[in-house]
Amino acid sequence: MAPGMEDIVRLCKQRGFIFPSAEIYGGFRSTYDYGPLGVLMLRNVKNAWWRSMVQMRHDVVGLDAAILSSPKIWAASGHLANFTDPLVDCRSCKERWRADHLEPDPEDGRIHCPNCRSTDLTEARAFNLMFKTHVGPVEDEGSVAYLRPETAQGHFVNFLNVLQTSRKRPPFGIAQIGKSFRNEITPGNFVFRTREFEQMELEYFVPPDEAAKWFDYWCDERLGWYVDLGIPPDMLRLRSHDEEELSHYSAGTSDVEFMFPWGWGELEGIANRTDYDLKAHAAASGEKLEYFDQATNERYTPYVIEPAAGATRTMMAFLLAAYTTDEVGGEARTVLKLDHRIAPYQVAVLPLSRKDTLVPLALEVLGLLQPTAMCDYDETQSIGRRYRRQDEIGTPLAVTVDFDSLEDRAVTIRDRDSTEQVRVPIANLVAEVSDRLSL
Ligand code: ATP
Repeated sequence: MAPGMEDIVRLCKQRGFIFPSAEIYGGFRSTYDYGPLGVLMLRNVKNAWWRSMVQMRHDVVGLDAAILSSPKIWAASGHLANFTDPLVDCRSCKERWRADHLEPDPEDGRIHCPNCRSTDLTEARAFNLMFKTHVGPVEDEGSVAYLRPETAQGHFVNFLNVLQTSRKRPPFGIAQIGKSFRNEITPGNFVFRTREFEQMELEYFVPPDEAAKWFDYWCDERLGWYVDLGIPPDMLRLRSHDEEELSHYSAGTSDVEFMFPWGWGELEGIANRTDYDLKAHAAASGEKLEYFDQATNERYTPYVIEPAAGATRTMMAFLLAAYTTDEVGGEARTVLKLDHRIAPYQVAVLPLSRKDTLVPLALEVLGLLQPTAMCDYDETQSIGRRYRRQDEIGTPLAVTVDFDSLEDRAVTIRDRDSTEQVRVPIANLVAEVSDRLSL
């Protein structure tokens, strides 16, 4: 049976993936802290993206731009004027809602406040989602700066720097992973919509007449990435935006959507941003943000295809898709069938007992595996309960050191999904684990 959100929220809290932020102070609505397992898994999600977008390609380079930068960027990009959500206030209970999230009541056709059912709502007004702060000691209009609401503008303002230093030419891309901040009016659904989150964004610069081709290419490529990492294809779809849904910069957008417990929701937007951003920054800065093609003697502003994914939201989708319950030896178990590339730990090393005689060998085995795989080490509780715990946090392999190991220098490898066990000489262990995990 598909898991509910409560299953994932409970697992994340109990096992140390994700904690509500500032919990000891009663929480801080809409931000979350990533615990010992969450930090590993989120890093793996980001590494998997980086590997496919940068490491495995010859046409993409990386960037890590500042979160806090000149407000001129956001004036030129259009975010100061346009990065808004329509907001209504309920005059009765004072709650605030996104107007585009409210549906007319099927009974009376009127819009009701989802909290108190009142129909006394204000007109919609534009609410800018960027967090404002002040830079330096004086808090006046001249010191206003914004936390970036997307990583993307960093790619555009560094276009010339990257072009000149990387020796790339269109079609080529700049990839960036990092935190973004949006003052969301209605955060919720756990880490689906938070005010601080992480994004993984590629800006792919192409000759304008090739934009349509590359847009299709990136839609296929990005959908395939989620499937390759274990999300069943029937839980994914590509949905193209209607005209009125398009962002101010977009000539076409398709979303990769995932079947969340409440319905389809976006994981990633793939947009044809045209030459909007480069031209806007060129006009505002006076710099020529163009590419000169020596072969044709032509100067042009590239079009940009942008696959923009959320790392934190995607991590939640991987957890939901992997969460399974089954029965082993007549006992119910919860197992996270995560791909080994994104599981927090790849291997758990478990001495059968805590006896002093086994621990030194178990630590020796751990030391052999650590350079190759992220390992957990656990010597508490019965071995059965430790297997259940590793299943529940998605560890693909468990290596058990028992009393025979002291004699035969061999250990048992247990597979998470099949629960099959095989005996392997310690001398072959690293090779066997690498082989099973395709490392
Ligand atoms: P939505 O329609 O859900 O608000 P968006 O279309 O504004 O999202 P984009 O600007 O396209 O989102 O951002 C790219 C990706 O960044 C999204 O697909 C999502 O995965 C992630 N993302 C955006 N906003 C948030 C948020 N508030 N919390 C978590 N992830 C987010």
